[in-house]
Amino acid sequence: MDPIPLLQVKHLKKYFPVRKGIFSKRIGWVQAVEEISFHLHSGETLGLVGESGCGKTTVGRCILRLLEPDAGEIWFEGEDLLRMDAESLRKVRARLQIIFQDPYSSLNPRMTAGEIIAEPIRNHTRCSRKEIQDQVSFLMDKVGLHPEQAHRFPHEFSGGQRQRIGIARALALHPRLIICDEPVSALDVSIQAQVINLLVNLQEEMGLSYLFIAHDLSVVEHISDRVAVMYLGKIVELAKDTVLYSSPKHPYTEALLSAVPIPNPKMKKQRILLQGEIPSPINLPKGCRFYSRCSYRMDHCREVDPEFKDLGEGHWVACHLY
Ligand code: SF4
Repeated sequence: MDPIPLLQVKHLKKYFPVRKGIFSKRIGWVQAVEEISFHLHSGETLGLVGESGCGKTTVGRCILRLLEPDAGEIWFEGEDLLRMDAESLRKVRARLQIIFQDPYSSLNPRMTAGEIIAEPIRNHTRCSRKEIQDQVSFLMDKVGLHPEQAHRFPHEFSGGQRQRIGIARALALHPRLIICDEPVSALDVSIQAQVINLLVNLQEEMGLSYLFIAHDLSVVEHISDRVAVMYLGKIVELAKDTVLYSSPKHPYTEALLSAVPIPNPKMKKQRILLQGEIPSPINLPKGCRFYSRCSYRMDHCREVDPEFKDLGEGHWVACHLY
């Protein structure tokens, strides 16, 4: 494994202002991402999992600089992304791509599939028309679409096929890292498996790395090498996938895992139902953010925010039980 990670995120922080009234006076901040740190090696997949609104999509968008972080560092291929000027960032974006959740709204309905896939090649290279056409055909074939479908518009494809167009477009400039932002959440379960298998095969063939964002641990299980679990803007647990699924430490991870179905009708699992109010991200408690829903909570947890501790072998957890 490359000693220098492909991507390093250090102490990333992103707040959004909350405004009110006719003068849009700022009345507070939504603490979307708070002091998040992780790394990703070349060829690796890191799953980033948590409930809606936990900040995982904001992390992905900050890495791509579609959102400007308020603090922290983001290093990609040894370069500081947050200090890059517009031209350097444009060049780096060729190697850093995204696949969006909703394949319909992320594709321009007025462009054909071929034009959508060709657009980044046209914008970033000096390829001739024929070379672009050949690349589009190659990419469509690679993602399991017929090159003859290049003249069709997005609405003429199924949801799974539209996501394949999004994947082909993301691959067009030979990226090293793809941020997969809930790429299968809008698809039927059977299609989800096909798209995940496609991503796994492409990774093996092209040496891609993925930051795979999902709200469900079952989705990232088959694709991730390591998994980070987020809760209200913080990573609460990070471990190798086999370790996290077999021996979760954080009570929130335990609860998420209890909701993952087991493909064996003879085995029964006790589902942990989380009770208690979720704190407002505008007014977070000073202690552990999971306190109000945790069945293991202690008095201490209400007062002191747990540190993110290394339990060894790359297993990190933020909980006073450890
Ligand atoms: Fe539960 Fe306390 Fe651990 Fe928070 S720190 S998850 S409240 S046991």
